[in-house]
Amino acid sequence: MPRPIEARIDLAALRHNYLLARRHATRQAGGAKAWAVVKANAYGHGLLRAAAALGDVADGFALLDLDEAIALREAGIRQPILLLEGFFEAADVALCNRYDLTVVVHCLEQLKTLRQSTLSAPNRRLPIYLKLNTGMNRLGITATQMPAVRRELAAAGTLARVTLMTHFAEADGAGGERCIAWQLQRFAAMTADWPAAGRLPVSLANSAAILRYPHTAHDWVRPGIMLYGGSPFSDQDAASLDLRPVMTLRSRILAVQEIGVGERVGYGGTFVAQRPTRVGIVACGYADGYPRHAPGGTPIIVAGRRTHTLGRVSMDMLACDLTDLPEAGVDSPVVLWGSGLPADEVASAAGTISYELFCALARRVPVVAV
Ligand SMILES: *Cc1c(COP(=O)(O)O)cnc(C)c1O
Repeated sequence: MPRPIEARIDLAALRHNYLLARRHATRQAGGAKAWAVVKANAYGHGLLRAAAALGDVADGFALLDLDEAIALREAGIRQPILLLEGFFEAADVALCNRYDLTVVVHCLEQLKTLRQSTLSAPNRRLPIYLKLNTGMNRLGITATQMPAVRRELAAAGTLARVTLMTHFAEADGAGGERCIAWQLQRFAAMTADWPAAGRLPVSLANSAAILRYPHTAHDWVRPGIMLYGGSPFSDQDAASLDLRPVMTLRSRILAVQEIGVGERVGYGGTFVAQRPTRVGIVACGYADGYPRHAPGGTPIIVAGRRTHTLGRVSMDMLACDLTDLPEAGVDSPVVLWGSGLPADEVASAAGTISYELFCALARRVPVVAV
């Protein structure tokens, strides 16, 4: 028998969350479409699995790697595929053409590469997402670069296939409203003296913006974390947003230790029993992707009831408190996060976000789609 840990992926929940994202987007902007953001192996859920589950509903798929985009095409995905960081060298452009990909162009160098490669190989022209830097200061064309960008676009004759995009820095936070207003203002200022820009499609919103700022929906939204049932907000849980958990990390109790007052548990003995304690040992550790920084007291479900972890997380195991769960023992089922225990709660106890928990799911954990 394999080690009793597995990640269950609820494909119906994934579809539900995708359709919810699109409903939010179309409420404000009638014709809005939604890229299913499946970067980072679909946030740890499995790229091809996610794509297959969304294959007949998603308007398009967005990710980072050319190889992954090609894998989607070869798996039969016909929808548009967006490369969120565009191409990394000239040789990629031919492949982008061959596989009919849409590319983000976030800097002048990419635009020049694009012009040179389309001149030397006059194949079909790539659809472009022109990424404007409106305050995130990570990727994107700046205001001072705009005239040069417009000259390049005109020279390459690609204008007709351009979508304008930007990315919000703080749609999930308390300062979201102000920050978005400010970024929208910069977006408008950067395109104000560009008459053609008014007719170009626009893509701005990530999950947080889709859920809280529907006026940002425009033509294409880009939901990521919400597809997987994670809340982008620290002050609002996923259930209240009607998001359903997609990944449930499950395991079992391997052993039970009965310890007396003053005895310690795990590396460093950071948990010291204040009462006679039944300690359950769970087959799950940081080498499975459970966060090592989750402190004792992090919620966990054993035999359908909530309890908490004890002491430090080890590589292959962690400990939890079964003192008040007399019915639980060896072989009792454990939920680390997912159905019944939002990943956001575990993430927040560990000082991180559910994005990181999902993406960190280790390869050694078997994944089962249900
Ligand atoms: C990852 C990503 C998204 C999705 O963000 P979420 O917060 O997960 O919804 C959207 N747009 C871009 C450019 C991204 O890189």
